[in-house]
Amino acid sequence: MVKDLLKRYFGFDDFRPLQAEVIDAVMDGRDSLVVMPTGGGKSLCYQLPALALPGVALVVSPLIALMKDQVDALKGIGAAADLLNSATPHAERTQIQLRAYNGDLRLLYVAPERVAEPRFQDFLRALNLSLIAVDEAHCISEWGHEFRPDYRSLARIRQIAPSTPIIALTATATQRVREDIERQLDLRAPSRFLASFDRPNLSYAVKPSGDRYDELVAALRECAEGSAIVYRSSRKGVDELVGDLAEDGIEALPYHAGLDADVRAANQERFVRDETRVIVATVAFGMGIDKPDVRLVAHYEMPSSIERLYQESGRAGRDGLPARSIVYFGARDRERQTFFLDRMEDDTERAAGYERLNAMLGYCQGAECRRAGLLAYFGETFGADSCDACDVCEADTFDATTIAQKILSAVIRTGERFGAAYVSQVLRGAMTRQTEERGHRQLSVFGIVGDYSDSALRDVMAMLVSRGLLSRGVEYPTLAVTASGRAFLRDRASLTLPTPAAAAAKPQKARVPAAEVDYDGDLFEKLRELRTGLARERGVPPYVVFGDVTLRGMASRFPQSEASLLDITGVGQKKLRDYGAAFLEVIRLYANENGLDDRTLALRERGEGMEARIRSDARAKRYPR
Ligand code: ADP
Ligand code: MG
Ligand code: ZN
Repeated sequence: MVKDLLKRYFGFDDFRPLQAEVIDAVMDGRDSLVVMPTGGGKSLCYQLPALALPGVALVVSPLIALMKDQVDALKGIGAAADLLNSATPHAERTQIQLRAYNGDLRLLYVAPERVAEPRFQDFLRALNLSLIAVDEAHCISEWGHEFRPDYRSLARIRQIAPSTPIIALTATATQRVREDIERQLDLRAPSRFLASFDRPNLSYAVKPSGDRYDELVAALRECAEGSAIVYRSSRKGVDELVGDLAEDGIEALPYHAGLDADVRAANQERFVRDETRVIVATVAFGMGIDKPDVRLVAHYEMPSSIERLYQESGRAGRDGLPARSIVYFGARDRERQTFFLDRMEDDTERAAGYERLNAMLGYCQGAECRRAGLLAYFGETFGADSCDACDVCEADTFDATTIAQKILSAVIRTGERFGAAYVSQVLRGAMTRQTEERGHRQLSVFGIVGDYSDSALRDVMAMLVSRGLLSRGVEYPTLAVTASGRAFLRDRASLTLPTPAAAAAKPQKARVPAAEVDYDGDLFEKLRELRTGLARERGVPPYVVFGDVTLRGMASRFPQSEASLLDITGVGQKKLRDYGAAFLEVIRLYANENGLDDRTLALRERGEGMEARIRSDARAKRYPR
């Protein structure tokens, strides 16, 4: 029965992992705590029970912009939803409260500070509440990185509605925050749902910051169809990058705390409405963004912690389609952070800061799978050997045992007093003045490497540093062999490394099946244009009309009847009524011109639900065709 509602309202065929279980718990009247990564589909966990149960669901959400978009989206699928915030005019407020009171509203969104008002509490007591959902529940915890004092007033909610089930939702994984949420909201024997934090549709890469500008421009051009967020560490950096990109013909808008509030809001709005593709921002940006179709999140500087990286990169690919995370990393990133850390007064705080920094450096410099590294940080183990969708796993590797032995020996023989450039000279047998004057031409390691260019050799040395076999001096970049480097030589261990240049040059792929990604690009563009027009007419973000997953479904299956259209994920009854005719017209015309058949029903007979394929195969390495 809830499954009927899933199709009728949302147009989805299947639940995502844990959704069905959470919905069961809520429908049973139990309290629950839901921890799912961004894009996991938390909203549905309370929206669907709200549609199924009698009474009105109270939804607490931290940001006005977010509430408005969610309510627009709910209205768009025919659900009776509305919101109350400080900006709601008095007359309208009375209207909305009356509708809630009369049972004409299924979902009522409110800002947390509302709940602190005695008069509002009286109103809540008079309502027939079906459930209370606290979204972004980590905001209630001081241990979280987004603590909001006004969430504290929610501690009262249990007393106001003692018998109403509470569902708290967050993407913050730490144990401490989770416990804090349960205590503060006074959850009663809650059912706990903890999803995997893996984001299978995201691919991860770390690239050297040396040529990051050109690299970024290329990455932005590559995702010409989708939106991108570029994070920078300073306001000045944001403004400069926006200017540089403009000179290269890439329109981007800035977002940082130095801009007027209305400029900030306008820039965010234009991004959400697809009027600009790229936003360059400081960490101030993102909390209010539910945009499902961000295809790239780039960190122009290394983030200060893995939590930050996870959260910010997590804003990409909420819709489950492939998306990328890129971090640009160089030696200066470390300096920039230690500069701040060293100025901290509090010893414990500084130590904690260093711990976070070291974990982040480990991610950037490590030669292990980035995904496995991220998950390990959150206490989760990644099952497979290779994720197939990060720069490390995708890189070609080679047996680096011999070259590593030669490099380490050369470092030792030259007395651990020189940098990579000079060690490379010695190994390649360069007839320079230095090698002569220092008497290094007599060494057994002089000229023993014939098949490496200087830059390839230095790449390998950098990898040996990140593997911990070599260390680089702090004051001068001289190389020394570490204890593990000596053990490596002594034990005659073997070593596999990514092939130097290939690692950077390979395009990334995400672990999502190619099926729905194989769509007709021209038709997709036409459908997008139609979507933009309809969204503008109605004053809503384009994704409220249809998400990219839905448009891609149309552009790969060419539905030409209402029944076929309903079969596309994301097309529910109300949207079929509102937009069906317009989209069918465009598809039919295009299909006619190009001689394309409706593939929907044929595929359905083969039992291939679209969302099920996208999701369940996301983990599979290869999609069986
Ligand atoms: P979260 O709040 O966990 O970050 P959302 O609730 O915003 O995630 O959902 C992310 C995206 O996933 C939305 O575009 C939503 O429509 C889509 N989605 C959620 N559940 C399903 C489902 N069962 N089938 C298909 N798409 C879904
Ligand atoms: Mg959410
Ligand atoms: Zn990997």
